[in-house]
Amino acid sequence: MINLDIPKKFRPLAEQAHQTSANMLRPISRKYDLAEHERPVELDLLASMIEGLQDSGAAGGAGASGVRREDKKDDGVVNGSNMASVIGAQGMCWGDAGFLLAMPRQGLGNAAIASVANDEQLERFKGVWAAMAITEPGTGSDSANIMTTAVKDGDEYILNGEKIFVTSGERADAVVVWASLDKNIGRAAIKSFVVTKGTPGMKVERLEHKLGIRASDTAVITFTDCRVPAENLLGNPDIDVKAGFGGVMATFDNTRPLVAAMAVGIAEAALDYTRELLENAGVVIDYDAPAYTQSAAAAKFLQLESDWEAAELLMLQSAWMADNRQPNSLEASMAKAKAGRMGSDVTLSCVELAGSFGYSENELLEKWARDSKIMDIFEGTQQIQLLIIARRLLGKSSAELK
Ligand SMILES: Cc1cc2nc3c(=O)[nH]c(=O)nc-3n(C[C@H](O)[C@H](O)[C@H](O)COP(=O)(O)OP(=O)(O)OC[C@H]3O[C@@H](n4cnc5c(N)ncnc54)[C@H](O)[C@@H]3O)c2cc1C
Repeated sequence: MINLDIPKKFRPLAEQAHQTSANMLRPISRKYDLAEHERPVELDLLASMIEGLQDSGAAGGAGASGVRREDKKDDGVVNGSNMASVIGAQGMCWGDAGFLLAMPRQGLGNAAIASVANDEQLERFKGVWAAMAITEPGTGSDSANIMTTAVKDGDEYILNGEKIFVTSGERADAVVVWASLDKNIGRAAIKSFVVTKGTPGMKVERLEHKLGIRASDTAVITFTDCRVPAENLLGNPDIDVKAGFGGVMATFDNTRPLVAAMAVGIAEAALDYTRELLENAGVVIDYDAPAYTQSAAAAKFLQLESDWEAAELLMLQSAWMADNRQPNSLEASMAKAKAGRMGSDVTLSCVELAGSFGYSENELLEKWARDSKIMDIFEGTQQIQLLIIARRLLGKSSAELK
């Protein structure tokens, strides 16, 4: 197998994430898959350990909170918090992706705060666990179509609307809510607001039952005349029609590599398990011989591994570009598109290769196949990523290529 080198300084992080996965996450993986909506209390301790590592500088971030563009130094390349976050996420999802998504204080809203917040907000929201609420009953892929409104009233904004499929929406301390300051202006008027739990007018209506990542809660939240301090609007409150959607969309450049990492981690788990099964069954996988000279199972396995490696490379590239302050929207979408599809293909193919072992609830393979599908849906579906890639490669605007 081609061995892709991760930066030397992050190898202990990768190793630590794998150890944590093996010793702490996998042993309770099935428990919370079956007990959907039960809060995985074991994660409280783990989250504190991750924060300790982050504070000591030993880990840039095993979740979303470490994601922020570094100040680029002039002395060469940077392997910073984006790289650390994808490597940490990959290692944790090798254990259980639902747990990473349910990790206290490591929410996708934290990535939004890290990407868009000013320095004062960064300080004020430090340590807050933030979920991310973009999707609405009539707004999914077309996120410019946000119906939730935010109306300025003195030193507050009044929010009204409904958000669905909010990951960690029930458990998080706060939710980063996308709302429009003026629906007539379109996408430039969409801003994100930090709404803290318990704010009057904010209500968790229900939790979803899901195919996979069942350890992670997914909530429907309504906002009815919900008053939020004006200083909770993340970033610039002015509507800049020229800059358009750029502010809030910047989050995706950092979170898409992270979701790619989750798919890469789950698929890696499935490949590791399947390799062991094949080898135990006497199948020889020869990395020095052409696939067509080997058994069908070995050839199939080699093809799956190469697909996985391509996704991992794109993930590393997009995170590296973010660390080095290079525009990475194209690469972030490429990584997400490739890894999202690869995650489902690889895990389901591993189920196929493993036969009844793969399908049984005695093993985690069938769970990984279910968990991986979401990586191709949230933070922009497969089709939306391909659309973004096509627009960027062809130099077309969203109005020109829909
Ligand atoms: C478990 C889970 C957790 C989630 N967590 C969050 C969260 O934390 N925060 C949040 O805001 N949202 C979250 N979501 C929502 C998720 O981001 C959306 O489901 C996703 O953006 C797709 O939107 P949609 O479901 O409305 O599908 P739609 O946009 O209705 O799309 C349906 C299908 O049509 C395709 N399609 C749509 N437009 C086009 C086009 N122009 N060209 C080609 N094909 C197209 C899509 O790819 C898809 O296959 C979550 C969803 C799930 C299932």
